[in-house]
Amino acid sequence: CKIDYQPAPNLLANRIVLVTGAGDGIGRAAALSYAQHGATVILLGRTIAKLERVYDEIEAAGGPQPAIFPLNFEGATLKDFHDMAETLDKEFGRLDGLLHNAGLLGRITPFDQYNPELWQQVMQVNINGPIWMTQALLPLLQQSEDASVIFTSSSVGRKGRAYWGAYSVSKFATEGFVDVLADELANQSNIRVNSLNPGATRTQMRRTAFPGEDPFTLRTPEDIMPTYLWLMGPDSAGISGDKLDAQPPRA
Ligand code: NDP
Repeated sequence: CKIDYQPAPNLLANRIVLVTGAGDGIGRAAALSYAQHGATVILLGRTIAKLERVYDEIEAAGGPQPAIFPLNFEGATLKDFHDMAETLDKEFGRLDGLLHNAGLLGRITPFDQYNPELWQQVMQVNINGPIWMTQALLPLLQQSEDASVIFTSSSVGRKGRAYWGAYSVSKFATEGFVDVLADELANQSNIRVNSLNPGATRTQMRRTAFPGEDPFTLRTPEDIMPTYLWLMGPDSAGISGDKLDAQPPRA
């Protein structure tokens, strides 16, 4: 956890960074923060109006001109991921950062009542889609001198919890995939892969999961950005296959 990290103002200058789920919550904060530190950010998500708002905010703040890439992980095919890679290759020629942040909670419900279609949906958005997107983007990541791939985990991806069903299982799979890919890429010093658990953060997803909780007791997405910046930028060079936390555990 690098909550006290003080990034250089130009930490991500000249870097091309893709953020999934960039329209809301933690992804929105990461996109704004990466742009503020000099990155050209590709805003990927399913709700175009939200992505456009983030785009406008980055422009208004004087950040490098971002790009919008509409994509819904539900229903996205291999062809969509390869078309995306082709577009990004033409436009940028490489990718220096990939923040897998988009996520779906599904339902908090006893397993005997879990709907199998919803289970598949959660697995598709949280792990299967991101895996095939990563495969399609590997050639672009190879073109970078220092590419950081970050998968978003959760405390329930490290220790299971009753009723969290597919969400918890998808985050365990995320941790497993990070281990596998980091190990495969260990001899390629230019691509590192890590998992990052944001910890309890004031977003819509957290409100849905814990409706009785006072959101003002939680850290905001902006509060946890130091670790997101550290792991995306050159100060974490050499770190791969690690499981990180963006905030200290709550008392
Ligand atoms: P939000 O629900 O606020 O934001 C999730 C983002 O993912 C939204 O931008 C959403 O798009 C996007 N998204 C959801 N489904 C899809 C899809 N099918 N295709 C493309 N984009 C999609 O969640 P958070 O910001 O809280 O969560 C971000 C990440 O952090 C997730 O991976 C989550 O699991 C993880 N996390 C969050 C914690 C917390 O306390 N908040 C704790 C632990 C982990 P749209 O805006 O269109 O809905």
